[in-house]
Formats: sequence, C-alpha cells, structure tokens
Amino acid sequence: MSWDGRQAAMLEAMGLGLWPVSTGAAPAALAEAPFAAATEPAPTTPPATAPTADSAAIAIGSASASSSIVLHAEHLDALHQSIQSCQRCPLGQSRRQAVAGVGHASAHWMVVGEAPGEQEDAQGEPFVGAAGKLLDAMLSAIGLSRGPGSAGQQVYLTNALKCRPPNNRNPHDEELRACAPFLSEQVRLVRPRIVLALGRFAAQRVLGVDAAIGALRGKVHKMADGTPVVVSYHPAYLLRQPLEKAKAWDDLCLAADTAQALESRA
Ligand code: URA
Repeated sequence: MSWDGRQAAMLEAMGLGLWPVSTGAAPAALAEAPFAAATEPAPTTPPATAPTADSAAIAIGSASASSSIVLHAEHLDALHQSIQSCQRCPLGQSRRQAVAGVGHASAHWMVVGEAPGEQEDAQGEPFVGAAGKLLDAMLSAIGLSRGPGSAGQQVYLTNALKCRPPNNRNPHDEELRACAPFLSEQVRLVRPRIVLALGRFAAQRVLGVDAAIGALRGKVHKMADGTPVVVSYHPAYLLRQPLEKAKAWDDLCLAADTAQALESRA
C-alpha cells in the first residue's frame, strides 16, 4: 500500500480527516544514544550464545533460520517466565500479574509502552485497553499486527515497566531501573530492526536520557548496539489530544521509512 493509502487507512481508523504530512523524506541522521537498560545485570534468561540443554536439543542437526527462530522463542519464553515471578521491586506484591510482552520472537518492530494499566494487569497482555485499540489501528495502517496468524508483519509489544503501578500512577524511577534488564534482554533476544518508544517514560528509559518527548521526536536515535529508535506520543495521550495524531503519523512514517531502508540494505 502507498503511504497515501496507509495514511487514509489510519485516518479512517482514527476517525480523522486528511492532514498534510511530511512523508517520503529519507530517514534523519542517526543520533547516537546509550541504552540505559543495558547497564544493569541481565535477568535469568540464557544468553543466545549459550542455549539451555532443552533448547540446544532443538538446534542440533539443523542450522536453518527456522531453528534459530525456535531458539529465540524458547529464550523469550524463559524470559517471560522470569518476568512473571519477578520481585525486584514492590510492584511484585501489588500486581495481579506481570505483563511481559506479546508478539513474534523475531519481530522486526518492537513497540515499547510505559506500564500496564488495569486491563493489562487483568489480562496479562500489553495494550489491551482503549489506548491499545488506537495503537492497533495505527500499526495496522502501516501493515503491522500483534496477532499470531493475522495479516501484516509482526510486531512485538512490551512496556518499560512490566507491572502495573497502583491506581495507574506514573512509574517511579527505581521501579523503571529495577525492570530495565528485562527490556534490555527483550531487545537482545528479539533483535528488532526498529524500536518505537511511546511516551516519555518509555523514551527516556530506552534512550537513557532525561529529555522531554518533544525534544526526542522527529529523529532516529540509536541504542548502544545500533538498533534504531523512534520516539512518539503515547496512544493514551493521543486519545486526550487527538490533534497530536498528525505528529504521531509522522513518527510512524519515520519509523517505517527507517525500517524499510534497513531492510533494503540487508
Ligand atoms: N499503556 C501502556 O503504556 N502500556 C500498556 O500496556 C497499556 C497502556
């Protein structure tokens, strides 16, 4: 689908009229940025270079791409399990369940939100509430989908914080820091082509900076491992400020252009 077609699809999904967008531009220059999450010790997932006995058994006799995908999936499952039993911060006591992530283990896109809300805490999946529905519509407009078996290229969804803060208060810095190794591991295992960080807490945690979201939007940042990062508004904010959806569309286009440019180089 052309960008104009995708824009029309997204507009329809969002219930908005047409707006002028800046599309077709080459991705902005990559801005170097550290990945703060990478600085803390990794949790209990086996490293990709040293698979567990069980997962190694799957790899024996096959060096195909599909077997390495199975290995990734196994490691990601193990990581999800360790997130489920995490007690690294007091949210481990107040949550109903941790919300690790959902999507394909080798998804090209990783979307990082802030923290689970009430519905995510109840269902154990990120972005299942109203903000999630808007996010799904936005992703679908550029041909991405979270669901196994559904049309569209797969995306892996997670949050900077894996457990719901009580009464949906803002995440505390020490909670985000305690959770950071999980996000670091998710990036290392999934190895996405692009990370889309939604909202201030996600952007600051992924990039290891303290800047306002307005200052982080509009360019392609880079994690320490080279993974490109695009920052955008959180969909819950877009529900409150629908006029900002135009900027969110620009961000999506920038992320899609960046991912596409990398794909054509691969
Ligand atoms: N908001 C987020 O940032 N993440 C979710 O999973 C749900 C709402």
